[in-house]
Amino acid sequence: MASLYLHIPFCEHKCIYCDFYSIAPAESGETHHLLIERFLAALEMEIQLRAEDKRFHESVETIFFGGGTPSLLHPSEIEKLLNLLAIYFSIQTNAEITLETNPGTVDKQKLKAFRSAGINRISMGIQSFYDDDLRFLTRIHTASEAKQCVLDAYAAGFTNVSFDLIFSLPNQSLRRWESNLKQAIELQPTHISCYSLILEPGTQLFNMVQSKQVIPLDADSDAELYEFTINFLTSHGFEQYEVSNFAKQNYKCRHNINYWNHSNYLGFGPSAHSFWENERWWNVSNITAYIEQLNKRILPLSGGEHLSETKLLEEAVFLGLRSEGIDFENIRQRFVRDLLKENSIIISELIQKGLARMEGERFQLTAKGYLVCDEICQSFLLIDLSETP
Ligand code: SF4
Repeated sequence: MASLYLHIPFCEHKCIYCDFYSIAPAESGETHHLLIERFLAALEMEIQLRAEDKRFHESVETIFFGGGTPSLLHPSEIEKLLNLLAIYFSIQTNAEITLETNPGTVDKQKLKAFRSAGINRISMGIQSFYDDDLRFLTRIHTASEAKQCVLDAYAAGFTNVSFDLIFSLPNQSLRRWESNLKQAIELQPTHISCYSLILEPGTQLFNMVQSKQVIPLDADSDAELYEFTINFLTSHGFEQYEVSNFAKQNYKCRHNINYWNHSNYLGFGPSAHSFWENERWWNVSNITAYIEQLNKRILPLSGGEHLSETKLLEEAVFLGLRSEGIDFENIRQRFVRDLLKENSIIISELIQKGLARMEGERFQLTAKGYLVCDEICQSFLLIDLSETP
């Protein structure tokens, strides 16, 4: 089963911490709505060109509109794209169809129209329930607008609503982060993603830190907030199923799980990545080049790689450790490798330290293990996965 990702590269404004490929009206250099029109025509062409290859005609389990800010599009534009995808791909009737939504771009009516268009999951970029945090992050919405947006989403008929929250803001206290989490669960989302504020080179925030305008939170406080997050959300009925992701029962994000399971996916739009069997490729991160190529009926590729068995195995280990664990039986069948036997010493050590557990053939990190996930991944990847011992 496959997944489809559509990257909509427009934002009303570029947030200081963001390094996703997106452009704001001020940068577009032409009337923004004309650029959106030209982009949508190119995106439709990309979908058609890809679908010409019968290799990609696998049943589609999830569709994800990400960005950028896909909720900036008109619901009729989203509907048109979904109709086009349904012509070219075999979309399952119960497919999970997610729209990343910025609370500053929608109202109840627009959300209703998205629901009617076929969206059945909303991933809402709330980030914080404090206006001063939102101003610092240069978000375009206030906390009360975000709360209203959640209520509007429920009123519009959405029953699967996920929140994105950011912790480890400069000077953020444990008490304030706790209050954020409390306000989040009061709104009864089905899923919460909590990301530590990352300093991505090239962003405005990165430059502000370099020039000492902003002092980032220290690593110990970051770890404390993360540990608190895990304890708080798991004690309020959420299951942690990945380093940053927590879900109520039956509400894990199927789209992300497909990424982490190495399922096939096609990405459309500038900067979008695709993965199919043992190939990965990615599009240009430039909307002008993207449109120009597709106007000539050329796929707008920027690069690609063939993944060797060793690389695939490394990724399966890395992705498994970060999410729902490594299924050793699955690895045995896929790679003809017995990682359980080969790594018995490190596996026993991690279990003894309470950092991991075995459930049948599945080796999964515990909450304590997720706290040091990067170190554990490193120790696993230091093992030579390239040759059968
Ligand atoms: S709205 Fe989202 S995608 Fe757009 S700039 Fe802000 S964080 Fe980045």
